[in-house]
Amino acid sequence: MTARHGASARATELRDILARASHDYHVLDRPTLPDAQYDTLFRELQEIECEHPEFRTDDSPTQRVGAAPADGFEKHEHLVPMGSLPNAFDDGEVQAWYERAVKVAGPVAGEGGFSAELKIDGAAIALTYRNGVLVTGATRGNGRVGEVVTANLRTIASIPLRLRSTGHPPLLEIRGEVYFPFSAFEKLNVTRAAAGEPVFANPRNSAAGSLRALDPAETAKRPLKFFGYAVAVPDGGSIFTTQTELLDTLAAWGIPIAPNRRRCTTLAEVNEHARLIEHELRATLDFGIDGMVVKIESAAVQAELGDIGGREPRWAIARKFAPDIVETRLLEIRVNVGRTGKINPYAVLDPVEVGGTTVKFATLHNFELIKQKDLRIGDVVQVKRAGDVIPQVVGPVPDKRAADSVPVTVPATCPACGLPVRVEEKDIFCDNDRCDGRRLEAIVHFASRAAMDIDGLSYARIEQFVEEGIVTDVADLYSLTAERIAQLERFAEKSAESLVAAIAASKAQPLSRLLFGLGIRHVGQEAAVLLARRFSTLGALAGDLARADAEGAADRDTIESVHGIGPAIAESVYAYFRESGIRQVLGRLQALGLRMDEPAQAATSSIFAGMTVVITGTLPTLSRNDAKQRVISAGGKVTDSISKSTSLLVVGADAGSKLEKAKSLGVEIIDEAELLRRLIE
Ligand code: NAD
Repeated sequence: MTARHGASARATELRDILARASHDYHVLDRPTLPDAQYDTLFRELQEIECEHPEFRTDDSPTQRVGAAPADGFEKHEHLVPMGSLPNAFDDGEVQAWYERAVKVAGPVAGEGGFSAELKIDGAAIALTYRNGVLVTGATRGNGRVGEVVTANLRTIASIPLRLRSTGHPPLLEIRGEVYFPFSAFEKLNVTRAAAGEPVFANPRNSAAGSLRALDPAETAKRPLKFFGYAVAVPDGGSIFTTQTELLDTLAAWGIPIAPNRRRCTTLAEVNEHARLIEHELRATLDFGIDGMVVKIESAAVQAELGDIGGREPRWAIARKFAPDIVETRLLEIRVNVGRTGKINPYAVLDPVEVGGTTVKFATLHNFELIKQKDLRIGDVVQVKRAGDVIPQVVGPVPDKRAADSVPVTVPATCPACGLPVRVEEKDIFCDNDRCDGRRLEAIVHFASRAAMDIDGLSYARIEQFVEEGIVTDVADLYSLTAERIAQLERFAEKSAESLVAAIAASKAQPLSRLLFGLGIRHVGQEAAVLLARRFSTLGALAGDLARADAEGAADRDTIESVHGIGPAIAESVYAYFRESGIRQVLGRLQALGLRMDEPAQAATSSIFAGMTVVITGTLPTLSRNDAKQRVISAGGKVTDSISKSTSLLVVGADAGSKLEKAKSLGVEIIDEAELLRRLIE
């Protein structure tokens, strides 16, 4: 077989696969291929057709947009065809697109800059407004003719039935994307699973499916939303001079516009914005995006560039991102036992590339959620990961489920110690204080950066000590000797010595870190600092450690009288210091020479009292946790996200979206040096 013949056969095969997938996707709203795979095969077909134009057929998926409108709907002819977009998969392809534009329009192509916008992964629609009033809403269909779904679109609250302000032409089409917010989508699926109905595969296809429901009451049950990004008028020209002006005007007319758009002067800025969206912003959005659209700003240049065969504009390109939702197989559900005894299930997955890393495990939160989502071992599941977010299992793909699969059973006993579990709301707990799983996690927490900060005492090492039986509680750590450790596998004398030194150094940590490190239920970093500042010494809180009756310990009311400590924390602290096993360990810690008080200056500083502080980026000298602790010690509250109530943002190197958001909200921004200066004052 010649290479030419091979290419022809492959083109036929690809056309076949793609046409079938496209039908499943656009007509049935039930995709049978992951998008990334569709895109790769589409690319391959385009390349063959480019090399051998004689193999191109009129019905090739590369020559079409979307799918023919379905029967059962009235048809709507768009004022101007609704195209698709060419794709770029990296910076180089965006550069090549720009160079092609320069070839056609000359150097003027980039002079007005670029508009960079989120590429919403929803369903494209066109809204016709006559004298400012919504008269028709249609799907994109095959690009020329769409399906009339006006009644369904009217149920979407964010689509204005009448445009605000004036100045709009008497007849116009506003184009945009209808999408299903993730939060609403997950809620809907949980409700459907509870009612025994099949769950939806993904937000994009359920948005498209809901739009094309034959009964508007069905659409109304789905909390769909809308973002606009284009305008068409009857003669096909543009009524704006730039894309930014178009978006600003749409916003003024009351059309919701997607956030995080940026007017860029250079392609370097475009690429930088793409990275910001892909690696930081994407994880924070409540809707799916599959890339960023780059458009030439100037409407005059856009008109000059025109489009390719009425299908794709030359003046815009979709910069696609690595998919953040992929499919893989759920191989196993394992659990780990947390330090509070909470038994946390997690998924063991067939390793899969998602959001730029290989994912093997994903959190499953609790057994109630496993039940709600009806996840079963062996299922093909959708896994989502964006930015630094922990991978999540979105849900099963019911169509790909084996006939003999069975629902997951909730364990009746603790997998670490074998004793019966206790069910509390959505969670299950192991109440056995001596459970090895709990002990391990408790020691890991004690040694962690935010608590006693013991350098080099990793999870694996603690696991080794617990398995060897040389450490059963936190006090045992301080009795370890370098000689004993050096006998263990994988330990050199030198590392044993430095570990023992690091453990000894942690004896000097203040009471607030010790209190947090003990892992008292409900006592987080902030509560630990509040308690340490109020009581100053462990004795004032726990009484005489030599006495089992807790003589001199603080009572419930005194603990609860600390500002910021509620009844649940107070009860938990009170009960904790009355447990004899715990008093014994604390007594041993005291005898081993741990510092058990809070330094005075930290106890009195309140420079950040009443303030909410966010820390972002890499600080030059302080770790994130150190900075956090210092702010808390000075009376401040540290949160993760910027909002109107944020008082201060501390920024380090490579700060991303939080910095931009703080600027836009007018939040005060300082660096580490300024933070330290304020803390000393
Ligand atoms: P596209 O998704 O590559 O891009 C064009 C569309 O982007 C526009 O029509 C518009 O609806 C949308 N868009 C979102 N935000 C926009 C913005 N700010 N400005 C302009 N447009 C914006 O092309 P397409 O023709 O809609 O669909 C093709 C894609 O659909 C493929 O790349 C593939 O990922 C997916 N698909 C998947 C399958 C499958 O089997 N999984 C089958 C067919 C198509």
